[in-house]
Amino acid sequence: MNDLSAQAPKAAQAGNTVTIVPEAEIAGLMTPEAAFDAVEATFAAMARGDAYNFPVIREAIGHADALYGFKSGFDRESLALGLKSGGYWPGNEARGLTNHQSTVILFDADTGRPSALVGGNLLTALRTAAASAVSIRYLARQDAKVLGMIGAGHQSAFQMRAAVQQRSFEKVVGWNYHPEMLSRLADTAAELGLPFEAVTLEELGAQADVIVTITSSFAPSLLDAHVRPGTHLACMGTDTKGKQEVEAGLLARARVFTDEVAQSVTLGEAQHAVAEGLTSADDITQLGAVINGTHPGRTSDQEITMFDGTGVGLQDLAVAAAVVRLAREQGVASQVVL
Ligand code: NAD
Repeated sequence: MNDLSAQAPKAAQAGNTVTIVPEAEIAGLMTPEAAFDAVEATFAAMARGDAYNFPVIREAIGHADALYGFKSGFDRESLALGLKSGGYWPGNEARGLTNHQSTVILFDADTGRPSALVGGNLLTALRTAAASAVSIRYLARQDAKVLGMIGAGHQSAFQMRAAVQQRSFEKVVGWNYHPEMLSRLADTAAELGLPFEAVTLEELGAQADVIVTITSSFAPSLLDAHVRPGTHLACMGTDTKGKQEVEAGLLARARVFTDEVAQSVTLGEAQHAVAEGLTSADDITQLGAVINGTHPGRTSDQEITMFDGTGVGLQDLAVAAAVVRLAREQGVASQVVL
C-alpha cells in the first residue's frame, strides 16, 4: 500500500500548534481595557484601509429555529485573520444555555494554518461594549455627566461598565420597554457606585449627555424631539435589516459615525434614514477616521453626534487575538497539535 505520509513534506507532517481558550477562561483573562485597545486599533486600521471585513453570511438553517453565520476579515497590520462563527438558537435558554453562541477561529496569516480556537460569547459582549466606549471617548462632550441607557438586556450591563470609564459620569438614567428588566441597570449602576434613576424617554433625553441604545427593537423608541443639542448617542442594538432604535429624523440632525459604512446603511441604524432619503452613505464617517485624526469628530458643544455600531468581524478577531496573547503570557493556554 502507498504510504501517503511518506510523500508529504516534513513540515506538513509536523502539524501545527493550535491554542485553545475556552469560554470559561475568558472572564479571567480579558479586561474591558484590553478590549477597548483592540477595538480602537482595528477601527483605526479599517479607516486607513489596512483592515477589511469580508461579506457577512447569515442564514436561517431550517432547524431549531436557528440563525447561523460567519463574520470574518483580515487586518494587515495586526495580521489578525479568521472568522467568528455562530448565531442565535432561541431554544437554548430552556436547555440552560445562552441563546447567542459564537466561536472565533484565528489563522496564521503567513501560512493559512489554524492558530487558535476561542470561545466567543463573552468576547462578543466585551467587543460590543468597547465599540461604544471608543465612540464616547472620541465623540462625547468632555463635560458629560449623565449617562442614559435604553435597553436592559444581556448586553446592557457590559455597555454601562465600559461607558462610565470614558467620562466623569455622576448619574445613570435608564428606560426599558420591559420595565421589569430595569433592575439589571440599577444593579450595574450600584456596582459602579453611581446613582440610578428609571425615567421616561422624555426625561432621559432631557437629562442625558450620552445615550447608549442596546435593544432588539424593530420600531424606534427614542424620538428626534427627545434628544437635546450636544448629546452623543451610541446606537448599538440595530445589527439586522428591519431593527430600529431611534427615529430616522435624528440621523438627519446628528453627525453620524459608524464602524463600517456599508453595514450602517444596509443593516445598521442608518438603514431607515437612508431609505427615507434623509441621509446617505456619503454623510456617514468611519469612527476610525476620528481615531486617526483625519476627521475632526465633534465640532461644537451643540452638535449631536451618533455612533451607529453595527458590529464587524474584525472586532471579534481583534479581541480574540488579544485574549490568545494574554492566555499565552499567563501560561493558561491549552494547546493541541492539529
Ligand atoms: P436581550 O434579548 O438580552 O435584550 C433585549 C433588549 O431589547 C431588552 O432590553 C428588551 O426589553 C428590549 N426590547 C425587546 N423588544 C423591544 C421593543 N419592541 N422595543 C424596545 N425594546 C425592546 O438582548 P441583548 O443580548 O442585550 O442584545 C440587544 C441587542 O443588541 C440585540 O438586538 C442584539 O442583536 C444587538 N447586538 C448588537 C451587537 C453589535 O455589535 N452592534 C452585538 C451584540 C448584540
